[in-house]
Amino acid sequence: MRLRTILASLAAGILITALAGCTPLDAQGSAAASVPHVSDAGRLGPQDGYIPTGGSVALTDDVPAVTRLDGRLRDALGRAAAAAAERHVAFTIADGWRSTRYQQYLFDQAVAQYGSAQEASRWVKPADQSKHVHGAAVDIATADAMDWLVRFGAEYGLCQIYANESWHFELAADASGTCPALLTDGSAG
Ligand SMILES: [Zn+2]
Repeated sequence: MRLRTILASLAAGILITALAGCTPLDAQGSAAASVPHVSDAGRLGPQDGYIPTGGSVALTDDVPAVTRLDGRLRDALGRAAAAAAERHVAFTIADGWRSTRYQQYLFDQAVAQYGSAQEASRWVKPADQSKHVHGAAVDIATADAMDWLVRFGAEYGLCQIYANESWHFELAADASGTCPALLTDGSAG
C-alpha cells in the first residue's frame, strides 16, 4: 500500500494520506499527537517495520520489515527475484512486516480520513486482520516488479490479492500454481 506514484495516478488518496502522515513522525513527532496509538515517546521506526514515505528496501536488507516476514514468503520472493533479475527486473519492497501499532496507526489514519472503519478497510486492514502484521504480505515498490509478479508470480506461489492493490502480494497460489480470484478490495476479505 505504499506505491505513491501509482496511487497518485489512480487518485487513490487514502494511502497517500496515511503514509504522508507518517513523515512528520520522523521529523518532529507532530503527527503523533492526534494518534493515540503512537506517542511521542514511541515513534514509529524500523523496529515497527516502518519504511519512510518514498523509501524502499531490498529483500536482502537486514531490517525488521524484511527479516520478520514469514520464511516461506521470503523464500518465494527470493526465488522469484532471482528469476526476474534475469529480465533485469529488480524487486524492492515499500512495506513488508509491520508491527501491530504501525498497522493500527495506518488504520486510524485511514478512519480519520474516510470517516468510517468500513470505508477505511477498503484500503487498510485493522491490526488484527492485516497479513502484514503476520509477515505474510509485501507491497512491491516498483511497477516493473509488480508487472512481473502478476505475470509469473504464481509459479512461485505469489499472488495479487486485491484488485485495487496492484502492489500487494501474498503467498496464496494453490498446489497447481493457480492464484485465487481477485477480491475487489480489502473489505471483501
Ligand atoms: Zn499490503
